[in-house]
Amino acid sequence: MVQIKTPEQIAKMRAAGLVVAAIHQATRAAAVPGATTKDLDDVARKVLAEHDAKSNFLGYGGFPATICTSKNEVVVHGIPGEDVVLQDGDIISIDAGAIVDGWHGDAAFTAFVGSGHAPELIELSRVTEESMWAGIAAMKLGNRLVDISRAIETYIRRQPRPARGKYGIIEDYGGHGIGTEMHMDPHLLNYVERRRGRGPKLVPGFCLAIEPMVSLGTAKTEVLQDDWTVITTDGTWSSHWEHSVALTEQGPLVLTAPDGGKAKLAEYGITAAPDPLG
Ligand code: MG
Repeated sequence: MVQIKTPEQIAKMRAAGLVVAAIHQATRAAAVPGATTKDLDDVARKVLAEHDAKSNFLGYGGFPATICTSKNEVVVHGIPGEDVVLQDGDIISIDAGAIVDGWHGDAAFTAFVGSGHAPELIELSRVTEESMWAGIAAMKLGNRLVDISRAIETYIRRQPRPARGKYGIIEDYGGHGIGTEMHMDPHLLNYVERRRGRGPKLVPGFCLAIEPMVSLGTAKTEVLQDDWTVITTDGTWSSHWEHSVALTEQGPLVLTAPDGGKAKLAEYGITAAPDPLG
């Protein structure tokens, strides 16, 4: 069952999404060489408190922190810690969420720590982010869930092979419905799997977290003994980008983007839905 939201409920999700955007801005600025991932978690917790928002990550299935910090070969669900010190040349994906008035937001980005990153790492993040936007652009009335998966996969597969390695679209994790819970139906694959069919039709009020994860090698992952940290099985580095998006009668609204997705969607010839919070 997919939870369909009213325009009033989407406005509440936009409020949660803007808190997530504020966490992104603050943690991006704090992701510098010498900082620990615990420092980033502290920054996120402070932003949540300032906005009177609650964490949807803390305590989720026993998760012990406010954000996920996934460095280098860690794909997702990395646990912030005092012992994880960011170093010049690292890449880190920061996944954050917020609950406002019972409604959830969830989004992630990949940041470069320091400078001098290899061109293929910069390109990896760009390709992953852009595949997310291709997926968001496919979130239109009349399309089906599989059209989003296809747009993400097609974008990645059309890219020139990286200087080193190849793009692995992570198989074991994907996007999801979002609303009164962080993870809801349907599950959104980042590639097309025929036996899954076309999935539900995209109608006004449909809300999804769209989140491609791409490595410079394998599509396979394993979970470390802490039961959370997901790494690539071949140790190649990976990128993760995510936005929560609502489909409305007026088009998609990127709930966790400060501008509602206006600028990026314009590149795809799509007008973002007006921001219900102005
Ligand atoms: Mg998510």
